[in-house]
Amino acid sequence: MSLGEFADAHLDGTWLVVAATNDTATNRRIAAAAEMRRIFVNVVDDVALSAVQLPALVQRGRLQVAISSGGAAPMLARHLRAQIESMLDSSVGDLAELFERHRDAIRVRWPDLRQRRRWFDRVLAGIVPQLLRSQQSQAAEIALCDALAHADVVDAPGSVVLVGAGPGDAGLLTLRALRALNEADVILHDRLVSAEVLALARRDATFIDVGKQADHHRVAQDDIHALMIEHARRGARVVRLKGGDPFVFGRGGEELEALHAASIRFEVVPGITAANACAAYAGIPLTHRDHAQSLRLVTAHCEQSADRLDWAWLAQDRQTLAFYMGVAGLERIRDRLIAHGRAASTPFAIIENGSRRDQRVITGTLDDLPVIARASLRSPALLILGEVAALAQSCTGSAVPPPAAVDVVATTPSLPL
Ligand code: SAH
Repeated sequence: MSLGEFADAHLDGTWLVVAATNDTATNRRIAAAAEMRRIFVNVVDDVALSAVQLPALVQRGRLQVAISSGGAAPMLARHLRAQIESMLDSSVGDLAELFERHRDAIRVRWPDLRQRRRWFDRVLAGIVPQLLRSQQSQAAEIALCDALAHADVVDAPGSVVLVGAGPGDAGLLTLRALRALNEADVILHDRLVSAEVLALARRDATFIDVGKQADHHRVAQDDIHALMIEHARRGARVVRLKGGDPFVFGRGGEELEALHAASIRFEVVPGITAANACAAYAGIPLTHRDHAQSLRLVTAHCEQSADRLDWAWLAQDRQTLAFYMGVAGLERIRDRLIAHGRAASTPFAIIENGSRRDQRVITGTLDDLPVIARASLRSPALLILGEVAALAQSCTGSAVPPPAAVDVVATTPSLPL
């Protein structure tokens, strides 16, 4: 049908208008007329005139994935669509249709949303999608019905997964951590867990921030145990999400003991610890044929913990020391190491906010540490001390943010980490 010149009457009875003429004035008129009538309008390649954006679509049967940049970068959306196209084969559409056919039966069998979700998680992780992928749709249907009939597994008791969230960069999460975050009903997270990582967790999980203040450790730790146990006993899949690795200065051991005593099922998913990440992102090899044959993960955050360390051993050269929570005690660390014979010229690097956007690397020699202590260091920060620290700059790769210049005589007191 030829409509000739645009006239307002063309909009009669429509609810969506796409203006795609090559005449800007006409497009403008169409947009204005649509706006007057409160009809949704999209003007091709003109974000300002469009009330709606049309997303790039990936379609597999009844399943659709829409990608939109809100008009900001349509080419980027198209690029992502190509990637998603290659990720999803046609069996995903068959799977959507299979679920649709059995939707009522599934709802009747699992009126409780949490149980239904678990059942879906199990089916999705099981044989049904595999059978569809190999084009055995009948067998897939039988397997699905079978899974509906044998449902006792879904009533599994609650559990806790102790997950290492890594140092901040979400790219450093393990696949198992990601899966646990996707399946969690309740997530108890520390203050060291980055917002970027939390954003990857299931949206409708209950998030509980158990970030604790340094001087209220003991009480908070008991509360954390109680919270984990309480939620798991109610049948929830709890994720206890910790910065770095749960077993490196993470009190993971104590939490597992509490779970064990309460007979709660648990699993541990390791994470990338701060020493690994900070070293990598600052270009410091933790061991090196010529400079360091061993690595020690140490904490000396208070006088008492410092007293328990074997400083004579720590003071030996050709080893790398990674001090966690050490920034409040830099002076103490320097004094004890030098007193036990470590050279005052031993290089160090302090990595603040390792692997995060605002990462800062401060380098110097052991002798300078008290000066650094008076600089405005922000939490979290890790001290790497040893000959390898001198390589910080030379090994910094292009993907790594360059170390920022630091004013080491800043007056802000350092934070107790
Ligand atoms: N379980 C954690 C450590 C917890 S102790 C892990 O395996 O990494 C907390 C200390 O870890 C902080 O005081 C700091 O010294 C270090 N830390 C954790 N994340 C860090 C980061 N992104 N950058 C620098 N140091 C970090």
